[in-house]
Amino acid sequence: MSDVTTSNSNTITGSCNCGSIKITIPRSDQMVLCHCTSCRKSGGSMASSNFSVPTKDLIVEGSEPKRYKSKGSSGGEVTRNFCGECGSPLWTAVADPSSVFVKGGLFDPHTVPQPNAHLFAKNMEDWEIVHEGAERLETQ
Ligand SMILES: [Zn+2]
Ligand SMILES: [Zn+2]
Repeated sequence: MSDVTTSNSNTITGSCNCGSIKITIPRSDQMVLCHCTSCRKSGGSMASSNFSVPTKDLIVEGSEPKRYKSKGSSGGEVTRNFCGECGSPLWTAVADPSSVFVKGGLFDPHTVPQPNAHLFAKNMEDWEIVHEGAERLETQ
């Protein structure tokens, strides 16, 4: 049971919008939606979908991502990695170097599980819903 099919079933691979960067992470049922203002602005959306991934398990192929630092809503500095060609947000590094937060939207439809938690739920618009079974955290 060590063929390619087996290893593929344990990982998912996605890409930025232009395809010049490929991202592979372990398959996971742990995904959170973050509604903080930094995630809203960086993704142009009401929330970002994030897989928490051990940094050692993140595989990046293709072009070198660009990055910038921004102040996270919980006060710490975060480093946001994105594609320099098309601008897709890719992953965020935080003060703790052991894990990174990879954007769920990079992966194929039907590979992203329902969220386990909503972070910074205090920022949710009136029309946004807390998903069934998901924890609602007012901040992080
Ligand atoms: Zn791209
Ligand atoms: Zn956030």
